[in-house]
Amino acid sequence: MSVDPAPVLRMVLSSEHDVFVLRQRGREVAAALGMDYQDQVRVATALSEIGRQVPGAEVLFAAAAGPRPHLVIVVSSAALGNQNLEGVRAAGRLMDEVRVEDERIVLTRRLPAQVDAERVGQARAELAESSPTTALDELSVQNRQLVAALEEVQAHRDELLHLNAELEETNKGVMALYTQLSEELEQTNQGVVALYAELDERSAQLREANEAKSRFLANVSHELRAPVTAIIGLTRLLLDPRSEPLTSEQTHQLDLVQGSAADLLARVNDLLDLAKAESGRIEPNWGPIDLAAVFGQLRGTLRPLARPEVELAVDEPPAAGLVSDELLLTQILRNLLTNALKFTDTGTVGMGAWVDGERLYIAVADTGLGIPFAEQARVFEEFHQVRGARQAGGTGLGLPYARRLATLLGGALTMVSEPGEGSTFTLSLPLRPAVPEVDDDGPLPQVERALVVDDDPAARHLLRQLLAGIAGQVSEAADVRSGLAIAVREHPSVIFLDLRMPGGDGTELLADLAGLDDVAGIPVFVVTAADLSDFRADELAHARSVLVKEHLTRRAVVDLVAGIAR
Ligand code: ADP
Repeated sequence: MSVDPAPVLRMVLSSEHDVFVLRQRGREVAAALGMDYQDQVRVATALSEIGRQVPGAEVLFAAAAGPRPHLVIVVSSAALGNQNLEGVRAAGRLMDEVRVEDERIVLTRRLPAQVDAERVGQARAELAESSPTTALDELSVQNRQLVAALEEVQAHRDELLHLNAELEETNKGVMALYTQLSEELEQTNQGVVALYAELDERSAQLREANEAKSRFLANVSHELRAPVTAIIGLTRLLLDPRSEPLTSEQTHQLDLVQGSAADLLARVNDLLDLAKAESGRIEPNWGPIDLAAVFGQLRGTLRPLARPEVELAVDEPPAAGLVSDELLLTQILRNLLTNALKFTDTGTVGMGAWVDGERLYIAVADTGLGIPFAEQARVFEEFHQVRGARQAGGTGLGLPYARRLATLLGGALTMVSEPGEGSTFTLSLPLRPAVPEVDDDGPLPQVERALVVDDDPAARHLLRQLLAGIAGQVSEAADVRSGLAIAVREHPSVIFLDLRMPGGDGTELLADLAGLDDVAGIPVFVVTAADLSDFRADELAHARSVLVKEHLTRRAVVDLVAGIAR
């Protein structure tokens, strides 16, 4: 609801002097209506700006109470149209609204919320009683206002100076802190760099010490092996029924010597194996592995070691198509099984295998002594044997050696054991060896295209791996007929050929190739596990060379291809 403004005061600007009166009255009206000091000055200044330019004008002060109380000042003058209304713009900045209509200017400014009709009435009464003062009075009021304004400006400036000083001090503090932190950071960095240098040096020293240890082990083992072998040989000679007869005591003593020497030789061999594995001198002989045969052989040879109360249960392994080193794999498993049989008095020693993704897992589990938790990490350390456990001979080298071999084969050996309940050792191996690391110094020999003819997919896969980086493309054939077809079609630069294949021997392909001018010149390498004495020399005459599958290594392939690429 809007309430019509009620007049509070009326006046006419009859002379120049009245501009001062207008200013003064404006301030008085503002004060009577409860405006604060600043607003009073605003109203007074706005009116004096306008009053200067409208001599003879009539000025009406009115106040509207109601929900949004406001002051309305109407300045009416017939001469308004001709005026340069610069003062109106100035007043506009001081009031809420300044509107110029036909012959009047209307200025509005909000009043405090509590101004009501009663307060407006009181203001009107107060103003009716007060009389305007002189120009001089108004000038002194203005002066006072100016002084007050100046004081306020000064106070603001002082406060600003104070704030600036504080800010500068804070800045200095921040800079000091920053410098200190930077220095600390630099010092820490230097420390870290020094630490790393020391670490590098330490690990170089460790590496050297480790290499020295491996060299020492290898040398000592070699040196020990010769005399021990001699002792065994000589003892055998003495015990030979064809030698001079011995007393039964002498025979008994020599039996003991022979037994001890055999033990000693076994230990020395353990040492030598480990030294070789550590120095990386064992290079796996990759080849397809018949897991069932390996498991069968281990079952057969180790069963006699089991105590009567222990069952050796070797499961049938899955047909995994594993490509690895049969000898090394057998050594690892024999080691694990021998330990299990050694440390199990009753129950079972079992071995089983399964495939998961691209890996084969073989677990050897027993229901034996188990290994105390505190010792579990240490049993893979060289020479470590569990203290307090039954002394069962051994060197403490079996497990570290097995783990080394597992690593060499691209796999890992892990263990879980519950003291008193038993242990499970799990070997995980990649089904296929990773692309072999090339340790050749020079560049690899290069051929455009190779053909591999072999019925065994694992063997083909192995060759493909061994040819990585050497042959631009590798084609595969699973039998002689498709081998010939591919050879004629693709003209490979080299052929790797298996001998024993269902549906036709490799020798037939050799003969067929030799009979066709087009392909007769392609070098063929025979790679076979077959017994070569089964073949006549002329059957293999067209082969560039014959390689036993066991000797098929990266090195061998590099050398063979280098021979033809030259
Ligand atoms: P060792 O030649 O003494 O058998 P290993 O390195 O093979 O050397 O084993 C180290 C030690 O780990 C063994 O002496 C034995 O205390 C403990 N150990 C290994 N395998 C087993 C097992 N299956 N059950 C209980 N203890 C075992």
